[in-house]
Amino acid sequence: MIQQREQTSSKEELKYKLQILKEAIDADYLLQHLGFNISKSTPKEVRAACKIHGGDNKTAFRMNKQTKNWVCFSHGCHEEGYDVINLVMRMLNLDFSDAVRYLESITGLNIHDEKSYVEYKRFKDRQEVIQHSSRYELPPAHVTEEYLKNFKKFRSNYFEKEKNGGFPKEVLDEFEIGGGFCDRYGFQRDVIPIRDKEGKLVAYSCRDITDKADYDYKYLLTEGFEKDLVLYNLHKAKNYMGKSRTIIVVEGFKSVWKLYIAGYKNTVACMGSRLTEGQRNLLYSASFNVITLFDGDGSGVKGTLNAIKEMKDKINLIPLFLPYADKDPADYDIEELKYIIGDIE
Ligand SMILES: [Zn+2]
Repeated sequence: MIQQREQTSSKEELKYKLQILKEAIDADYLLQHLGFNISKSTPKEVRAACKIHGGDNKTAFRMNKQTKNWVCFSHGCHEEGYDVINLVMRMLNLDFSDAVRYLESITGLNIHDEKSYVEYKRFKDRQEVIQHSSRYELPPAHVTEEYLKNFKKFRSNYFEKEKNGGFPKEVLDEFEIGGGFCDRYGFQRDVIPIRDKEGKLVAYSCRDITDKADYDYKYLLTEGFEKDLVLYNLHKAKNYMGKSRTIIVVEGFKSVWKLYIAGYKNTVACMGSRLTEGQRNLLYSASFNVITLFDGDGSGVKGTLNAIKEMKDKINLIPLFLPYADKDPADYDIEELKYIIGDIE
């Protein structure tokens, strides 16, 4: 009886240790080591062609960055086991315990050695504390016309670069983009002013231009800003709605600028993938027709479906979907956008 209990507890302990080991794995690093060609890496997952069955669909294989579990959409390779140890066993033709040793060598975390393991746990705990402190808050910013004028002098060429949208200076001027903002970790940021429907300056969104900030902190909003009561660019877009009083809603700032270049000056951004109640009310009072053109990814589609559900009886809603899951409106050519959106009276 006692022996049995000991066995259960050591089994539990092994399970726990394996879980810690899986957490310690860097998904990108591991997959590169295993010879995968990574096509996309987001904070949540890594996509690649599936090396197990050797397919060429570049996004068929997806690994969750937290659990390190994976799926193969084109061949169902995961049906024989979807965890990371199983992946290593199959890719390198190893048995279970050798696959674990391989992962130990790759992570530098030896779960067989009590000392290394305890040290790693301590490191993890410390990391968590740091992450939960106010690491990414912006220092207080002065949201005033006077300060904005200063920021405008220090705009970088970040958004002009081809890979960041290739926006012409005139367009960045039109949207009053500034720069020279430094967050408390020393990351330089460009400044996107946000105005309410009357044109009053209410916030800045500050874009990391060093590409060093973590994915979730690429754009930071100034403190105390209530996003649900504002649609970005509404103060200008409302003057271009035409006879049909049509407004186009996109998710992000860059999409607004891109549609502006394409001639759709009646575009606003909800600054997220979901229209809030306050934002929907702004649309009801400003327009008769609403076109949604959210990002092509899963949350964009969800946001669109949500808008259909919430708005269908209240306004004429025209939901548009983008053809590619990994692109947002700013990634398309002007001609492509014109084709997708069409003419608006
Ligand atoms: Zn496969």
